[in-house]
Amino acid sequence: MRDLVERTRAAGRLVGLVPTMGFFHEGHLELMRRARTECGVVVVTLFVNPTQFGPSEDYDAYPRDFERDSALAEAVGVDYLFSLEAEEMYPEGFQTTVSVKELSEVMCGEDRPGHFDGVATVVAKLFNIIPAHRAYFGQKDAQQLLVIRRMARDLNFPIEIIAVPTVREDGLAMSSRNSYLSPEERLAATVLYRSLEAAASLIESGENSTGVIREEMEQVISTEPLVNLEYVTICDNIYLQPLSELSGEVLLALAARVGRARLIDNMVFDVE
Ligand code: AMP
Repeated sequence: MRDLVERTRAAGRLVGLVPTMGFFHEGHLELMRRARTECGVVVVTLFVNPTQFGPSEDYDAYPRDFERDSALAEAVGVDYLFSLEAEEMYPEGFQTTVSVKELSEVMCGEDRPGHFDGVATVVAKLFNIIPAHRAYFGQKDAQQLLVIRRMARDLNFPIEIIAVPTVREDGLAMSSRNSYLSPEERLAATVLYRSLEAAASLIESGENSTGVIREEMEQVISTEPLVNLEYVTICDNIYLQPLSELSGEVLLALAARVGRARLIDNMVFDVE
């Protein structure tokens, strides 16, 4: 894989990388399309990474359909779909971890200890296996995006990280885990986006207090008994430090449990 990418680079072509865990939906396909328009060669990786799942999480149940995925990737013009087994990624004796300390401990890191170490380590490995010019990640996973940006900068990976806006369906951010939702739960889950929209209109009307905005979001979400809110946070969009007043680039992020699924969503605002 690395030889192939190096030869492609030597031929003067721009290489784009899209890391995924498969079971493609429009969110994944949007990343691939964006890479397709910007790069000469597009490599998509498909690897359900065991080290980013906690012991009681859904690694075994995580949806998989390689045939469907490869047909979808081919249809959007992906050049290479790179997939491998956990034993190949982590052969016997493997013991190195990449840990982006503080960014990994807050928000989703509180409920999922070790998750972002798993992500940072596998993405570092993928950046080495596929030395692309650009790598595409979804804004939907805002904390993951910041962890990867930090990791790439701290470890001097010569790769440009591109964020792609969240793709939604009836407001709900698309996710492979949406397949766990019953029709009632899926409908209820749209309240997450409505809470972000409510926050957006408060911000537009000049509200500056994060306490007021967070309360409004929690209130909107509490109208849906099927949705169990885990956290709402309002923080800066680099270090994830909570803010009391809006200023600069601000991230509003949340996580909630709906049935079997743990869902996340966010919006970013630029506040003068
Ligand atoms: P996953 O397969 O869930 O690990 O996701 C692979 C990539 O697709 C990650 O960079 C995600 O942030 C991105 N992604 C997942 N869902 C969406 C979405 N609804 N919109 C945009 N990007 C997404």
